[in-house]
Amino acid sequence: MKNLHNALLLKQLYQLRQLGYRYTGLALPQHKESDLILPSSMDELKKQALNCHLCELSKSRTHVVFGEGDENAEILFVGEGPGATEDSTGHPFVGRAGEVLTNMIEKVLLIPRSEVYIANIVKCRPPNNRVPTATEAHTCLPYLHKQIESIKPKLIVTLGATAYHYLTGDESKITQIRGTVQKRDNYTIIPTFHPSYLLRNPSAKKEAFIDMKLIKSLMG
Ligand code: URA
Repeated sequence: MKNLHNALLLKQLYQLRQLGYRYTGLALPQHKESDLILPSSMDELKKQALNCHLCELSKSRTHVVFGEGDENAEILFVGEGPGATEDSTGHPFVGRAGEVLTNMIEKVLLIPRSEVYIANIVKCRPPNNRVPTATEAHTCLPYLHKQIESIKPKLIVTLGATAYHYLTGDESKITQIRGTVQKRDNYTIIPTFHPSYLLRNPSAKKEAFIDMKLIKSLMG
């Protein structure tokens, strides 16, 4: 809630700056409590995200990549942020990294990709595929938290260091933390490598395979 409140304040500051204000020592209008509450229904949440202009990424995006899959999925995969193909289509993990992720799901977990849910820490593409800034990540996180609340996945698989870091606040190195089972607020989080990392470092695929086997063993 505090993140959303801060994000709304940030949005107002951007708007004031666009209007020509140069200083922030202004009395900002107060928000009604209801302005700070994101909708719980996935459809309403998606509508709000598709119209989001709370951070700089909204200026350069082509599509908001809200996330997709089974809204009652047992497993939620969380990546870092959309790349070029995702930005141009509006769907998560549809480029080369997406092919790797789909193979991990369908060939190792042996379930169709449509049976999991796939989302990202930020819903708009960071220019040149840079890592999202802390402000961008924290501004966007309330949407992901609502998605998690709604899906209630049994397992959350974080792909790469950024996803794990922003979901847990833990800054451990991914090489040290991957393949472990982390419990946070009634959720089970399993960090593994990002599929793009596997494309650059094929030798890490054997560890990713071990992580997928662990996930399979924890599925109901
Ligand atoms: N990389 C990500 O982290 N997310 C996507 O959706 C695609 C590539």
